[in-house]
Amino acid sequence: MGKLPIYMDNHATTPLDPRVLEAMMPYLKEEFGNPASTDHPYGARAAEAVEHAREQVANAINAKPQEIVFTGGATEADNLAIQGVVDATSTEPPHIITCTTEHKSVLETCRSLEKRGCPVTYTPVDGYGVIDLNRLESSITDRTALISVMFANNEIGTIAPVADIGKIAKKRGVLFHTDAAQAVGHVPVDVNAQGIDLMSISAHKVYGPKGIGALYLRSHNPRVRPTPILVGGGQERGLRPGTLNVPGIVGMGRALEIASREMYQERETLGDWAREMRSAFESGLGAELNGHPTQRLAHNLNMYFKGVESKALIQSVNSQLAISASSACTTDQVEPSHVILALGFDLARAHCSVRFGLGRFSKHEDVEIATEIITASIRRLSRIGTRC
Ligand SMILES: *Cc1c(COP(=O)(O)O)cnc(C)c1O
Repeated sequence: MGKLPIYMDNHATTPLDPRVLEAMMPYLKEEFGNPASTDHPYGARAAEAVEHAREQVANAINAKPQEIVFTGGATEADNLAIQGVVDATSTEPPHIITCTTEHKSVLETCRSLEKRGCPVTYTPVDGYGVIDLNRLESSITDRTALISVMFANNEIGTIAPVADIGKIAKKRGVLFHTDAAQAVGHVPVDVNAQGIDLMSISAHKVYGPKGIGALYLRSHNPRVRPTPILVGGGQERGLRPGTLNVPGIVGMGRALEIASREMYQERETLGDWAREMRSAFESGLGAELNGHPTQRLAHNLNMYFKGVESKALIQSVNSQLAISASSACTTDQVEPSHVILALGFDLARAHCSVRFGLGRFSKHEDVEIATEIITASIRRLSRIGTRC
């Protein structure tokens, strides 16, 4: 048996792939140059490594290298995309359309822009977490500057009809941003085929390092140019000043290169295993799936265990199994998942749902052990009786 606790929280973060670490090592050691200081080989080699990584990132999403801006992660990319487009709009505060199940980095950016006078529409989803396209399209007005809808949900794994949203956006002359932190490297992403104008990516969700991400910005048809949030040196064409995180960038490039090649096989294997767990929980425990039954991330499983508080379940297994709730826990308080509530379910379901995230380093044995651990724990906890 492998290391304990078994890691099944790959939506929160993924471990660094050893091949990624290997690519990064020289840039943490002897290749320490500043890529903006290219009058000598140290800087020149660092700049070369950054441009190579930019190509790797662009290739993974069918973009051009000059359309990639490196950021400190997907949170920063989301902020730059949404706030940057608003700030670049010269007329009255523009209207933004987003979705109720977005990540906090999108929702909180929208909330802060609302305070600055931007009207925001939070488009509802159905019981599977799929956005209502009719509501989305009918909420577009002359003032709408941006639609921001996530590619794949980090809690329930539902994949959005991205290409359809891209078509609507194009037809109505509105920019389309997608937070693809959970999608890039896990499902095929093609910014052209899917009509994406801006896209946020995070390296640590695809076996790359933390603290590095990117924002894709379409260069033609239309050319997208958000107003930068930070000011300073002119790095990243002035869109994201600050000395580049060279090891992080190199790692991100390598991580996406590997993922582009391996995701198809990975998706199949992890999909089989997740379905295996799901049917064991459904038939053995009467658990129910949260999210779409088929339009979903293969490695995601979000289950509702009726009558068992997720907090109690997670704590009872945490020496053997690392999983998380569909809710953000701050010290003693458990905030119910806004995603589960957005599906139309009650607080009880939001407090009794658990997320499993399989990953590249999961083994079939882990899946079998996890299923047994959860099954035993649910049986024990239901006998004790918890609140939901
Ligand atoms: C993890 C995640 C983010 C934040 O990414 P960071 O790189 O950690 O800032 C944003 N959106 C989604 C959907 C995520 O899963």
